[in-house]
Amino acid sequence: MAGLYIHIPFCKKACHYCDFHFTQSVEQMDEMVDAICQELEMQSEFLERETIHTVYFGGGTPSLLNENQLRRLMRTIRFEYYLSSNPEITLEANPDDLNPETLDLFFKNDINRLSIGTQTFHDPHLKWMNRAHTAQEATDCFFQARQAGFENISLDLIYALPSDSHELWQADLLKIIRMRPEHISSYCLTIEPKTAFGNWVSKGKMTDVDEEYAAQQFEILLETMEKHGYEQYEISNFSQPGYHSQHNSNYWKQEKYLGVGPAAHSFDGTHKRANVSSNAKYMRSIKKDLVPYEIMELTEEDRVNEYLLTSLRTKWGCDLELLRSNYEVDLLQMHEVYLTKLLDQGMILIEDDFITLTNSGKLLADKIASDLFIPNQV
Ligand code: SF4
Repeated sequence: MAGLYIHIPFCKKACHYCDFHFTQSVEQMDEMVDAICQELEMQSEFLERETIHTVYFGGGTPSLLNENQLRRLMRTIRFEYYLSSNPEITLEANPDDLNPETLDLFFKNDINRLSIGTQTFHDPHLKWMNRAHTAQEATDCFFQARQAGFENISLDLIYALPSDSHELWQADLLKIIRMRPEHISSYCLTIEPKTAFGNWVSKGKMTDVDEEYAAQQFEILLETMEKHGYEQYEISNFSQPGYHSQHNSNYWKQEKYLGVGPAAHSFDGTHKRANVSSNAKYMRSIKKDLVPYEIMELTEEDRVNEYLLTSLRTKWGCDLELLRSNYEVDLLQMHEVYLTKLLDQGMILIEDDFITLTNSGKLLADKIASDLFIPNQV
C-alpha cells in the first residue's frame, strides 16, 4: 500500500501557530512545480515500481495550485508511477481558495478527497490565529464542494485555544457534526517555538496551553464524536464508517511512502530521508539533477519506538506478535510490571496479542508510549 506525498510549500498568510515549511512568495510557484515534476521523474524507482494506492497533496497550501500546475503534476504522477485503479487522492485546501470554479477544477483533475483547514467556526479565533478565511467561507465551501461532486471530505478543528471556552468548543463540534463530513481531524493547539504564538508565549504576552483544560476539551471531543457516529481510529482522527484516511493510516502502519518537494519525507521500509527545508536550495539542487535529501539513520530500536508511538495512537493498537517476529522484542516480558499497572488503572487493554489504549489511556498516549520505549544499544 505505497503512498505518494507532494509538498506544496506556499501559503498566502502565516498562521500564528504553524511551523510547517512554506513561504509566502507565491510568485515562485511555477518554478517550484517544474522542480517537483522533475523530482517525480528522478524518484520514480524509489518505491521499486510498487503500485501507489494513495496520493496526498499537502503543504503549505496545495489549493493555491492553478489548473495548469495541478494538471502537470497529475500528468507526471500518472506517467511515472503505477496508480491503483481507484487511488485515494487528497488535496489539502483552505476555505478562502475554494469556490465553485476551483472545486470544479480539482474534481476534474482526479482529486477525490478534500482536507479542508476549517480550524474553528468562531471568527474572533480565526482572526487571532491569522487564518485567511471566515467562518462563513468555511461553511459555504463545504457545501460547494458537495455540489462539485466531492463525496469524501475531511474538516480540521483545533481545540484548547487559550481564549476558548467549553461552550465555544461544543458549538464548533455541533456545527461540524451537522455538516456531516466523512472525516474530522481535531488537534490540540501546540505552541511551537518558531511561531508567532511561540514568540508571544516566551515574552509572556500569551499563556501556554493549559494541559488540564486541553484534557477536558479532548474528553468533550471523544464524547461528542462517539455520540454522533464518528469512530476515533487515531487519537486526532475520526471518521464515518469506511472513510479512514488511507494515506495517513499507511504512515501509522509503517508502509512505504515517497515524499516529493522541499521538506518532504520518504520511507522505503528501512530508511527515512528528508528533503531540504529550503525552497531556494531545493530548486537549485533539482536543476543540477540532484535530489537534496538527508538520510535519517534509523536503528532497529528507533523503528520499534516509532512503531510504539504511532500504533498506540490508533484503534488497531500495538501488535505484540509483530514486535516479536520482526524485532525479537517481547514487550510483555520487558515491561510486565508497568503494563500490569496500566491494566489495573484501566489505561490499556491487552486482547488477542494487541495493546490498545482506553479513553483514559489516550489522554496519556505519548507518555505511555515513551515509557515503553526500548533503549538504543550503544
Ligand atoms: S495555511 Fe496551513 S501550512 Fe499555511 S501557515 Fe496556515 S496552517 Fe500553516
